[in-house]
Amino acid sequence: MGCDGGTIPKRHELVKGPKKVEKVDKDAELVAQWNYCTLSQEILRRPIVACELGRLYNKDAVIEFLLDKSAEKALGKAASHIKSIKNVTELRLSDNPAWEGDKGNTKGDKHDDLQRARFICPVVGLEMNGRHRFCFLRCCGCVFSERALKEIKAEVCHTCGAAFQEDDVIVLNGTKEDVEVLKTRMEERRLRAKLEKKPQGHQKLRQGSLKKPALILERKKPALLPGAQVGPTAATVSSSGSWKPRARVLVPLQ
Ligand SMILES: [Zn+2]
Repeated sequence: MGCDGGTIPKRHELVKGPKKVEKVDKDAELVAQWNYCTLSQEILRRPIVACELGRLYNKDAVIEFLLDKSAEKALGKAASHIKSIKNVTELRLSDNPAWEGDKGNTKGDKHDDLQRARFICPVVGLEMNGRHRFCFLRCCGCVFSERALKEIKAEVCHTCGAAFQEDDVIVLNGTKEDVEVLKTRMEERRLRAKLEKKPQGHQKLRQGSLKKPALILERKKPALLPGAQVGPTAATVSSSGSWKPRARVLVPLQ
């Protein structure tokens, strides 16, 4: 090995030579994008989810990522936009009847075959192999080829009938430009959700604080009647005429 017993390493032992500039094989990249989890790099297995930028993940990898924030350092770039499991959508994918599976193929060579895809477009039958553009609907998770979505021109999902808007359509593994657009849309969507949440949250709180004490009072009153606190309770009861009907409703509940 050298360096360990006073031996002088030869040059070729230290310098590994010009890095093999591996030609970025586009096909290989496509295979990776469409068959492997963006986070764990493991082969995609149901339940498969997609993020708002159109990348594919194994759901368990996303859950693990969210639970273990230390993983964020290494993988942060790929998934820093996923803050909650609600940020991903579970996909409803249509199996390709022509897919032979990866049984007996331990090397995984078959995934390099772009002609065979595990999933297809349920409408026009295109294979989801990276050669055709595919989208999913955020509202329901159903996956279609872009061609099908354009041809149908419907406002409800062809598979499950869920209503969707243009904003719900997310291109899977889109181009750089696609991802830029999706990112902007994601940011706008999140801002909107934040703004919409505020007033709603206040309302809910107010409603809750009104409802809860009322419920507790109603429940406790009959239970307290035989107890020592009958006096004050009875006094409040007599002042409000609505006590009797309330009690009648509550007795069968208890
Ligand atoms: Zn659907």
